[in-house]
Order: sequence, then C-alpha cells, then structure tokens
Amino acid sequence: MREMTADPYLGKYITCVSARSTDKEILKKAQDGGIATALMVYALEEGIIDGTIVAGEGDRPWEPRPIVAMSREDILKARGTKYSISPQIAWLKEATRSFGLDKVGVTGVCCQMQAVRKAQLYPINMRDVPGKVALTVGLFCMENFPYKSLQTIVEDHAAQSLGSVKKMEITKGKFWVHTERGNVSTVPLKATHKYEQPGCHVCLDYVSSLADISTGSVGSPDGWSTVFIRTKKGNEVWSKAVAAGMFETKPIEDVKPGLELLTKLAKEKIDKNRKTLEERRNFGVNKALRDPYA
Ligand SMILES: Cc1cc2nc3c(=O)[nH]c(=O)nc-3n(C[C@H](O)[C@H](O)[C@H](O)COP(=O)(O)OP(=O)(O)OC[C@H]3O[C@@H](n4cnc5c(N)ncnc54)[C@H](O)[C@@H]3O)c2cc1C
Ligand code: SF4
Repeated sequence: MREMTADPYLGKYITCVSARSTDKEILKKAQDGGIATALMVYALEEGIIDGTIVAGEGDRPWEPRPIVAMSREDILKARGTKYSISPQIAWLKEATRSFGLDKVGVTGVCCQMQAVRKAQLYPINMRDVPGKVALTVGLFCMENFPYKSLQTIVEDHAAQSLGSVKKMEITKGKFWVHTERGNVSTVPLKATHKYEQPGCHVCLDYVSSLADISTGSVGSPDGWSTVFIRTKKGNEVWSKAVAAGMFETKPIEDVKPGLELLTKLAKEKIDKNRKTLEERRNFGVNKALRDPYA
C-alpha cells in the first residue's frame, strides 16, 4: 500500500484522483462526477453496507430531508447538492434500531463526518453505533445556508422560483442557479455571505478529512470530481469499485486546476475560521465565548 500523505489543509489520505462514475443513469442528475451516489450504490450491491443515510427530498423544493436509503432507487433520489441544512446524523442510531441495519453507510458534509467519528469513539447514548458504521462518504464544504436563506438567495437575488430550479452550484465566485427551462442566473458570492449559517464560521475542515472517502468538485473539470481515498476501508472499497469498472479515473497531477486550487481554498477557509475562533476568546469584557476545540 502507498504511504499516507498528511497535509495540514487536505487531511490524511492514501491517494487523490479525479474521477467520474461510468453509470450514465447516475450521471444524468449527479452534481459532479456522481461519486457519492455511485459509491453507495456499489457498496449496497456488494453487501458492504445494507443501507445508507442520504439527503433525500423534503417537503419544499430544494429542502433536503435525511433518509435511510436501502435501495438503488432511493440512493439515486439524493443526487444533487442541496445548499441547505440536512441533519443527516439524526438517523444514525435509528438506522441500527427500527431499520435493523448492521452495516450503515453515511453521506454528508465535513461536520457530519466529525459527528460520526465522535459517536464511534465517544458513544454517548449511541449504543451499537460504533461497530455498525460501515462506510462514510464525505463532501467538501465551504459553508451552508438555512432554508430561509436559500429561499432569499434564489428568489430575491437570483429572481428565480425555487420550484423551477434544476441545479444550483457555487463556483468561480458566484452562486449559479440553472432552471429546468435552460435559464442561468448568478449571484455574486459577496451578496450571499450574510445568509451563511453562523456555525459554519468556526468550522476548520474543508475536504471532509475524517471520511473514509471524500469528494467534491473543486480541482477537477465540470462533470468530474476530486476524490480522496483516506482510510483502509475506503481504499478497499475504492480499489474494488475501480477494478469492477465503476469509475473512470485520472491521476490528480494530470488534471487542471488540481490540488493547487483546492489547497488554496482549504487554507482560506481554515485561516479565516481560525481567526473567528480567536476573536471569540476576546468577545466580551474579560469574558470569552466557548471554544469547542479547547
Ligand atoms: C452545503 C454544501 C457545500 C458544498 N461546498 C463545496 C465546496 O465548497 N467545494 C466543493 O468542491 N464541493 C462542495 N460541495 C460538494 C459538491 O457540491 C457535491 O456535493 C460533491 O461534489 C458530490 O457530488 P457527486 O456528483 O459525487 O454527488 P451526487 O452523486 O450528486 O450525490 C449527492 C450527494 O450529496 C449529498 N447531499 C446533498 N445535499 C446535502 C446536504 N445539504 N447535506 C448533506 N449531504 C448532502 C447526498 O446525500 C448525496 O450523497 C458542497 C456540498 C454541500 C452539500
Ligand atoms: S461549513 Fe463546516 S459546519 Fe458548515 S455545513 Fe459545512 S462542514 Fe458543516
């Protein structure tokens, strides 16, 4: 096995590649290379997991709702990024109870990967969970938005109705809104900052460093994903899936913009949020706000 790389901004990983799923149906509605969906479908079909928590469809358009998916069909329903909070971990214990799962998959953003690892090491009212987490796939995440914020950004700033939106994307300094009828509206990211979830401002992880496998769009061309294979479990699943023809891959060194841009953005996030944490220490007169990392 390759030596482990330990990067101060990108975390520990065994390999990093640019990849996309070879499943055309998955790609049709995937946000990027369909890695999150294809990995969980493969893991389900191979018996590596018997169900997985994904961000399914909620009651309102583009409002995610966590679900325990136990079929390919339900996993596919969670394709696409919903830029709003989906409390994935709320189902972690229940997956091992009424759903009766023995090998639980979890997808989610960086903070949700942290929650899973913490529950595995410090299970507080989380009986059975530590031994039943079978595969975690983490997404890169710069920030997230409460649903009301997303509504304001899309309906007021981008002047689109949420019900007509086909895809949303944050890239190249803008929030992009693509409608079903082919219209594209953009909002400068500067205008969206005040809508961010405040809790994201103390987050020190950009690339889901604690996942078995993590994936995101930055670093790879459109339609492709940047993928970090991090743990022994992640490496086993990834190697088997590639050997079975599930993914097209390219060494990340051969891809533009590659790890250079990813490292730059990860550094920007971590440095900025470290500063926020520092400021919390001197928030009141002779009084600090709590530091969860202390
Ligand atoms: C809030 C947020 C911020 C992001 N910021 C960045 C970023 O700054 N840079 C970057 O490169 N990538 C970012 N991503 C990741 C990127 O948008 C894609 O989700 C990722 O590349 C996976 O694409 P895919 O084609 O493999 O996923 P698909 O195959 O389309 O599957 C989508 C997956 O995303 C999960 N998901 C969707 N919405 C949510 C949600 N709200 N919370 C938790 N899980 C969700 C689903 O469960 C599913 O597993 C962000 C994602 C989210 C949710
Ligand atoms: S920025 Fe951090 S805390 Fe906020 S949603 Fe993303 S991973 Fe979670």
